Amino acid sequence: MSEGLQRTTWLAVLGAAIVGPALLWLATAPAEPLWTRLSVISGLFALSALVCAAVLPSRLRSLNRAFGIESVMEVHRFLGIIAAVLVLAHLACVVAADPTNVALLDVPRAPGRAVAAVGATVAIMLLIGAAILRRRLRLSYEAWRWTHISLGGLVVILSAAHVWGLDNVVRNAVMNLVLTILIATFLGVVVYRWIWRALLDPSTEFFVQEVRAESPTVSTLVLAPKAVGSGRHSDGEAWTFAPGQFAWLRLDRTLTAEEHPFTIASSPHIDRTEFTVRHDGDFTRALRSLPPGSPVWVDGPHGAFTSDIGRCGGFVLIAGGVGITPMMSMLRAAADRGDRRPYRMIVVARSPEDLLFREELGFLRQSMDLAVTEVLRRPADGWDGHTGDLGVSLLSLVLRSVAHPDDLDYFICGAPRLVEDALDVLDVLEVPPARVHTELFDFV
Ligand SMILES: Cc1cc2nc3c(=O)[nH]c(=O)nc-3n(C[C@H](O)[C@H](O)[C@H](O)COP(=O)(O)OP(=O)(O)OC[C@H]3O[C@@H](n4cnc5c(N)ncnc54)[C@H](O)[C@@H]3O)c2cc1C
Repeated sequence: MSEGLQRTTWLAVLGAAIVGPALLWLATAPAEPLWTRLSVISGLFALSALVCAAVLPSRLRSLNRAFGIESVMEVHRFLGIIAAVLVLAHLACVVAADPTNVALLDVPRAPGRAVAAVGATVAIMLLIGAAILRRRLRLSYEAWRWTHISLGGLVVILSAAHVWGLDNVVRNAVMNLVLTILIATFLGVVVYRWIWRALLDPSTEFFVQEVRAESPTVSTLVLAPKAVGSGRHSDGEAWTFAPGQFAWLRLDRTLTAEEHPFTIASSPHIDRTEFTVRHDGDFTRALRSLPPGSPVWVDGPHGAFTSDIGRCGGFVLIAGGVGITPMMSMLRAAADRGDRRPYRMIVVARSPEDLLFREELGFLRQSMDLAVTEVLRRPADGWDGHTGDLGVSLLSLVLRSVAHPDDLDYFICGAPRLVEDALDVLDVLEVPPARVHTELFDFV
C-alpha cells in the first residue's frame, strides 16, 4: 500500500472511531432533554478518544510508518487530554441534566456503573498528572511507564464497564454493535501488542553475532534473525526495514521485560542487523556486555524517518552525536543500491572522540556523491575544522556543492537543541517544511 493511501486509511479509521459512536447515537436515540443528550454524547466522545489514545502507541507498524512515531505520540497525548476534558464535561452534563445525580458521586452508596465512572475519572486525572509531572517528580522511565500503562488500562476498562451499565445506550441495537466493535478492536490490539508481538511472534527472535566497540562510550550490537543465513526467519518471512527506521529491543521474553528503542544503523541489504548504541544507563550498558549467541527480541521496524520517500533529488543529513545512526543506515543503503544522488552530511559532536564512523564515511565518499562536514562544539587543540553552532553560513556552504539545492530533502536527528538550531536555519533558508524530517531520540 502506498504511503498516501496508508495515511488516508488510518485517518479514516481513527476519524470514524472518534466521531462514529456519538453521531450514530444522535441519529438513532429517542428524543431526550438537551442535557441528557449532551451527557451521552460527551461520554461517547470520551470513550472513543480513550480507545484511540490507547491504540495509538500499540506498536502498529503501518501506523508508525505512515505518520512517524513522534506524531503518533503527539496525537496520543492530545487525545488523552481531550478525553480527560470530555470526562469532566460529561460529569457536568450529568449533573446539569438532573442535580440529584450528584448523589452518584457518593461511592459507598452509588450503583456499580457510577462507581466505575468515578474510578475512571480519578484514574485519568492521575494518569495525566503523572505524565505532566514525570520529569519534575524524577520518576524513572520504567516506573513511569508501568504506572502509565496500568492507569491507562484501568481507565478504558472502567469506562467500558460504566457505559455497559447504562441501559439506555446498550439497549439501542446499533449502539450495542458499535460499542462492541470499538471494544473488540481495543482488545484485538492489546492481544497483538502484549501477547502476539511480546511473547509469541517468531519474527522478533534474533541473536547476538558480536558487539563491536566504536568509541569508549558507543558500541555496535550486531544481530541476526534466529534462522541464520538468508536474513529470513524460520517461518520464511523476510526481515525488512526502510533505512532510518528503528525497533524496540528486549533481552527477555516476558511481559514485564524492559524494552528500549534504537535505530537500525545497518543497510537493509545485508544479512546482519546493527544497532549503534551510546551506553548511558542500565539497559544500554547491558547491551555492551552481551556475549555472542545471546537472544535479543526485536520489535520493528517502526517510524517514518527514512530516506525511502519516493522521488527526491538528494539529501542533507544533519546528525548530532549518536543521532548519526539513521544517517548511517541511509548512506549504507544508498551505497548498496548504487544511488548516484548527492548526499551532504553535517555531523555535530562535542569532541573528536565523539565523531563516529569516520573511516567508513571516508570509504563511502569514494563510491558515492557524499560530502561530510564535521562540526565540533568543544574543539581540541589543532582542530582546523568547523566549530560552534549550526548556522546559516555553514549550511549555505554545504549546499554550494549541490547542483539543484531546491530538490533536496533534509533529515535531522540529534539532541533537541541541535534539531531546533537546524529547523531555525532551514526556516531562514525558506526550505518547505514538507522537505524537512526530524527524529528526536526521546519521544516520551
Ligand atoms: C526513535 C528512537 C531511536 C533511538 N535510537 C538510538 C540509537 O540508535 N542509539 C542510541 O544510543 N540511542 C538511541 N535512542 C535512545 C535510547 O532509546 C535511550 O538512550 C535508551 O532507551 C536509554 O536507556 P538506558 O537504560 O540506557 O537509560 P535510562 O536511564 O533508563 O533512560 C534514559 C532516558 O532514555 C529514555 N528512555 C528510556 N527507556 C525508553 C524507552 N523504553 N522508550 C523511550 N525512551 C526511553 C527516557 O527519556 C529516559 O529518561 C533512540 C530513542 C528513540 C526514541
